[in-house]
Amino acid sequence: MANHIISLHGRFRDEDGTEKYVFESGDGIIEITHVKNKGGIAVFCLPTHHYCNLGCKFCHLTEEGDRSKPMNPIKAEVLAEALAHILNVGVKDDRALFSFMGVGEPFLNIHLIHNLYEIMKEKFVELSLALATMITSSKPFEICREWVKGGVPLRIHFSMHSPLDKQRLTIIPASAVTVVDAVTALVSFKEEAQSSAEVMANMTSFHEDPTPVEIHYTVIAGVNDSDEELAEVIALGQKFQVPFKIIKFNPTKELARSSKEEYWL
Ligand code: SF4
Repeated sequence: MANHIISLHGRFRDEDGTEKYVFESGDGIIEITHVKNKGGIAVFCLPTHHYCNLGCKFCHLTEEGDRSKPMNPIKAEVLAEALAHILNVGVKDDRALFSFMGVGEPFLNIHLIHNLYEIMKEKFVELSLALATMITSSKPFEICREWVKGGVPLRIHFSMHSPLDKQRLTIIPASAVTVVDAVTALVSFKEEAQSSAEVMANMTSFHEDPTPVEIHYTVIAGVNDSDEELAEVIALGQKFQVPFKIIKFNPTKELARSSKEEYWL
């Protein structure tokens, strides 16, 4: 692997053992979180971009950031080098989950995921992939379907955050698909993944619920917690039968966790 110039800027540890690493490369910052999983799986929360200017309403980067700053895609070789550093300083697990849920939008740098998988898969006995997308386009679904057809163990999480298209656009301005189109593409990906015994064996090994797709929703006070939204979410759930997960909202200066969150759960 060619050596790129990256340097470790900082390493921060939470009480539960979760560690955050901040690297600097010539193209920008790379933040990686390493979560120690009880099942002997090293979970890495990975970025796809050095910075993100997509402007999602609930994002700390939007609140603190600069929309004119460029959104540089991270190269697989550079991310592999950062990961190699973390592995060298003491990750002993031989199973790993690469979860692309950090800075950036995976669908805008989709080839990073497969390229990193190819570079890193030999370093673990078992490696699994997951990504969370706002779905800025439905095109990358075709690429992901091809990957799972070839046995690449990928799980896709759709960050919905509102089932109402107009409202969703005010929360996620970069969204370029309707919610129904997004969930339809998600279901088609799920069916393709479920038809691969190799992918499903990996999903069963890594996840309590092996379904290779999930819908994520953060319930934010006065933003996406209306009765109309709840009714629509239930209707979509009944129609498409995709697992639905509430992600606890990390409040920003302007936005608060909804008091209805428990009711949604
Ligand atoms: S895509 Fe992710 S990182 Fe980018 S603004 Fe939205 S929530 Fe933040």
